[in-house]
Amino acid sequence: MTATDTRHDWTLPEVRKLLSMPFNDLLFRAQTVHRQHFNPNEVQVSTLLSIKTGACPEDCKYCPQSGHYNTGLEKEKLLEMEKVVAEARAARDKGASRFCMGAAWRSPSRKDMPYVLDMIREVKSLGLETCMTLGMLDEDQAHSLSEAGLDYYNHNLDTSEKYYSHIITTRTYQDRLDTLDNVRKAGMKVCCGGIMGMGEDPDDRAGLLVQLANLPRHPESVPVNMLVKVAGTPMEDVEDLDPFDFVRVIAVARIMMPQSHVRLSAGREDMNEQMQALCFLAGANSIFYGEKLLTTANPQADADRELFRRLGIRPEQREQCHSEEAQEEALAEAVEKEQTRHLFYDAAV
Ligand code: SF4
Repeated sequence: MTATDTRHDWTLPEVRKLLSMPFNDLLFRAQTVHRQHFNPNEVQVSTLLSIKTGACPEDCKYCPQSGHYNTGLEKEKLLEMEKVVAEARAARDKGASRFCMGAAWRSPSRKDMPYVLDMIREVKSLGLETCMTLGMLDEDQAHSLSEAGLDYYNHNLDTSEKYYSHIITTRTYQDRLDTLDNVRKAGMKVCCGGIMGMGEDPDDRAGLLVQLANLPRHPESVPVNMLVKVAGTPMEDVEDLDPFDFVRVIAVARIMMPQSHVRLSAGREDMNEQMQALCFLAGANSIFYGEKLLTTANPQADADRELFRRLGIRPEQREQCHSEEAQEEALAEAVEKEQTRHLFYDAAV
C-alpha cells in the first residue's frame, strides 16, 4: 500500500500488525501519511455546547449522562433557543467556523424535532457550519436534519462489535451502523469514533478501526477518546490503558483513514503536554478547546493556546472562517468560562 491509498478493505490481521509495529516505525509511517494530506502544523479547533444534559435512557457504561447511574451530574432541560443562538454567535465572533450541539437522548422525539430543526436554521443563519449529536436517527429524521442545513452528525461506534455488549445493552451495534447509514444517505458528513481504555483488548481496538475504515466512506471526523473514569459509572475503576497504546490507535487511525480529521477528544485533560504532542505527531489534527465540553473537564483554552505556541501549531483555517488572527484570539478568549462541566463522548465531533 502507498501512503496515499484510501482503502475500505482492511482486515483484522493487518491492523493487528500495524498496532504492534515498533513505536518509532509506526509514528514515522503515520506522520508520512499525515503530511500527504494535511499541513502537519495545523490543528482544527471546535466548540461544543450541550443543549440537553443528563437523564439519558441509554446505559453506556462510561457515560455520566446515563440515567442508569448516579454520578451527581446536574440534569438540564433542552436549552432555550436564545441561549443557543447567543453561544453560537459568541463562538462565531471569536472566530469559530463550526458549532457543535449535543443532546443526551436515545433519539430525538417527535416533540423536540421542530425545535432542533429551528436551532439548526438559526445557527446556520449566523454563517456557521453546524454539527449535532442527538442519538439514533431514522431515515426521515436524518433527512429533516439535512434539509434544515445540518452539516455534520456525530454518532460513535465506541468499540468493536465483539466488545460492544460489555459497554451498552440498550441499543445494538447494528442500530449504530444503521444511524450512520441514514446520516450518509441524507447527505450529511459523518463524525464517528470510539473510546479507548474501557477494559477492551488490543483486538477490540483493531476491530473498531476496521469497522470505521471499512465504512463505505470514511468518516470526515474520527474522534479518538480516552476513557474518563467518572465516579458512579460502572467504568470508574477500570484499569488504565498504557498511554503509548492510545498513541498507537491515533497513528493507525491516521494510516487507515488518511483524509479524515482524527480528533484527540475526551480524556485530554488527563494527558500531559508531551503525550498530546505525541498524539499530534501520530496524526491527530483536531481538538475541542475551551469552555463547553459537555460532560468531562477539558484542559483550559489558555493551556491549549500555550501548547500550540510551544509546538508551532496554528488553528486550521476553514472555509468561511475568519482570519487566523481572529482564530488565535478565539483561543485566547475561550479561557474565561466554566471548565468543570462533564462532557459526553457522543459529542466528540
Ligand atoms: S453516551 Fe450518549 S447515548 Fe450513551 S448514555 Fe451518554 S448521552 Fe446517552
